[in-house]
Amino acid sequence: MPAIAPQPVQITCPNCRTSFRTGIYSLVDAGEQPELKQALLAGQLNLAICPNCGVASALGAPLVYHDAAKQLCFVYFPQELRARPEEQERFVGDVTNFLIKSLPADAPRGYLLKPRRFISQASLIEAIFESDGISKEMLDAQRQRVALIAEFAQAMEDEPELARLAEQHRAALDYEFFATLTAFADANAQQGRMDGATMLAQLRDRLAALAGVDLPDEADGFADGVDGGVDANYEAELAQTVERLV
Ligand SMILES: [Zn+2]
Repeated sequence: MPAIAPQPVQITCPNCRTSFRTGIYSLVDAGEQPELKQALLAGQLNLAICPNCGVASALGAPLVYHDAAKQLCFVYFPQELRARPEEQERFVGDVTNFLIKSLPADAPRGYLLKPRRFISQASLIEAIFESDGISKEMLDAQRQRVALIAEFAQAMEDEPELARLAEQHRAALDYEFFATLTAFADANAQQGRMDGATMLAQLRDRLAALAGVDLPDEADGFADGVDGGVDANYEAELAQTVERLV
């Protein structure tokens, strides 16, 4: 199936008024372009980064999410677009016609006729995670771990504060927490962010000492217990958090 190229648009940065070109994606096909799915799940799709000041702005564009293997077709129409129903129908019709034409003749297509609608990107992302077997509860728990890691990371230079936070959040310092921290350190190292990787590894060791937790040897595949889907998608988020801190 041919991929739909992003549509070029000219936008003005809301922060510094710099005008620049970027691309809007209107179709994410999970089978054909898994990297777009990852970007969508990480909240990075249709997000324009100003080349002058670095401020990100959401492009607020309608989007079709398609996964032929799972027979899923989701449509996200941002509420703030206030698009008329007939405009929405035309957009959905154009994209689904494209999909139907590009599917093999014997492929199921009934699901394309009644795509599920979403008015917020957050609910679309949750539904995609759910189709991958990751529930909202698991996502929320992972978000809390990410927030907690960021909170600990900020207290790295302040030993008494770090000890106080470790005491306060003692119950959260469980196997999944340390596995997440390890996965983030590994992800930073793999992406060449050695400062972040070192900082996260130090944080993990200090928290383990403070909490009196014996960490298993990394050679035993310690991080494998965390669902690959979740930590992959939060890599970007945490990497950004870490970059602000180091
Ligand atoms: Zn700017």
